Amino acid sequence: MTELDELRALVAQGCRVAAARGLVDGILGHLSLRVDDERLLVRCRSDTDTGVAFTRPGDIRLVAFDGTAGAAGELDGYRVPNELAIHVETLLANPAHRAVAHLHPPAVVAADLAGITIRPIYGAYDIPGAWLARGGVPVYQRAVLIRNSALGKQMVAAMGAGPVVICRGHGITSAADTIQQAVLQAISLNELARMSLQVRAAGGALRDIDERDWDDLPDLGSGFNIDAAWRHEVTRLGD
Ligand SMILES: [Zn+2]
Repeated sequence: MTELDELRALVAQGCRVAAARGLVDGILGHLSLRVDDERLLVRCRSDTDTGVAFTRPGDIRLVAFDGTAGAAGELDGYRVPNELAIHVETLLANPAHRAVAHLHPPAVVAADLAGITIRPIYGAYDIPGAWLARGGVPVYQRAVLIRNSALGKQMVAAMGAGPVVICRGHGITSAADTIQQAVLQAISLNELARMSLQVRAAGGALRDIDERDWDDLPDLGSGFNIDAAWRHEVTRLGD
């Protein structure tokens, strides 16, 4: 397997993990990975597409930032997603971003529409999630299909310097250095939203954790937060 094929397999696996966690339903949502300054691997569509949960390595195509084939034959039988601009503009805006996940997690969309702002309502329950919430999760207020670079730039402006943005009435975009991190932080965001909705549904109020607790919510390291967490995600897929 070539290095590029290994990356295709990783991006496809990320799609399946996101779907298995309920962050996408059906055929909508896609992941991408920067390959160089002009090209990315992105989950594309074909006439044999059976949905995000069943993404195959072959569904991940090498595409130039302008949406054309990144190498001969890459778009034969495949089409780039309508929202390719989400990926391209996110990658262009920040060189530290190599992986982008655009997903439609219902809990996050519902929480935002319910007027809930994502806040650190818990701590050791999910430490990376708590820190993600503490940094603030911005909202891109338009519910549009982000189908051109002007809309992509608007979303990126709303995202600011952070790793995630909620697109109102639509979904989320999560960016990171790796596919694993982009998907895992999307899972954390989804859990924050799900728990917020659950607390509200139980009649509770949402309150930030005590300020003094942050000193004892350490970074447990990428070996635990990313490597072990990803092994779990892949294993529960049955891959
Ligand atoms: Zn979308």
